[in-house]
Amino acid sequence: MARARSSSRAGQDREKGEREREKGSEREREKIGAIGALLTQVRSALFITGPGMSIECGLPHYRGIPGLLRRTAQDARMIESALSVDTLHKKPKLTWRYLLEIDRRVCEAQPARGHEVLVALERRLQRSTIMTINVDRLHQRAGSRSVIEMHGALHDLRCARCEISTRHDRYAGLPLPPLCAECGSVLRPVMALFGEPLPPDPFTRLQAELEVGFDIVFAIGVVAMFPYLARPVLLAKQEGVPTVEIGHTATEISEIVDFGLRGSPGRILDQIWEVFAQLPARQPG
Ligand SMILES: [Zn+2]
Repeated sequence: MARARSSSRAGQDREKGEREREKGSEREREKIGAIGALLTQVRSALFITGPGMSIECGLPHYRGIPGLLRRTAQDARMIESALSVDTLHKKPKLTWRYLLEIDRRVCEAQPARGHEVLVALERRLQRSTIMTINVDRLHQRAGSRSVIEMHGALHDLRCARCEISTRHDRYAGLPLPPLCAECGSVLRPVMALFGEPLPPDPFTRLQAELEVGFDIVFAIGVVAMFPYLARPVLLAKQEGVPTVEIGHTATEISEIVDFGLRGSPGRILDQIWEVFAQLPARQPG
């Protein structure tokens, strides 16, 4: 008798769980429908993107650096030490061994569905800008053109002495460490290493874009919501511009965005695209 009661209670719990899940997915469908419809009405959109997008390409990340797995606290110390400007100066080969491993993982990765949807939206909207903290350049490989790389890019190399920059698709074929053709100094990627300030140029470009303004602002796959990432969302909020957050983890902005969607960025962006693509396009003007 006791057993029958407990199994019927388990059944009730299961039903309740299913009802809640259905309600949850219904709410999600409503939000996706609303966002898809909003996108047909806007001229411009800002997409703030983070590691959650690259994870779907099989790229792990450690504190924003792609292709690295932190298994232990010791790993973390090794990574942060090897990828510091101090080690780059004193033991450039050590830094470069890590950079080559990152390069190998990044080159193996292919853009995911989320990247493709942002390319498709850029082609359809009058103005679309991606502001990313990812240094893997997967947005550009997918075909996005307007991308502000807030943390720089793995595959841009620069000589600290001559300040000459070169752009590469991969590191394969470069000597270890790669040297400047002009002065023989060790080259470095134009991305922030641990303990370094962020490059200033992307901030200047972002500010110019924010002054023009956007009609909708998305934060996608951002795991650590740094103040400079939250700022465009907060500005949008003040101006009554719709805000959307998509990703697996809650952040500091989750409570204030108009639409919060928990889950895979690729899956959710694909569903938003499905809605958007079926609706009639906005009339120009
Ligand atoms: Zn040089």
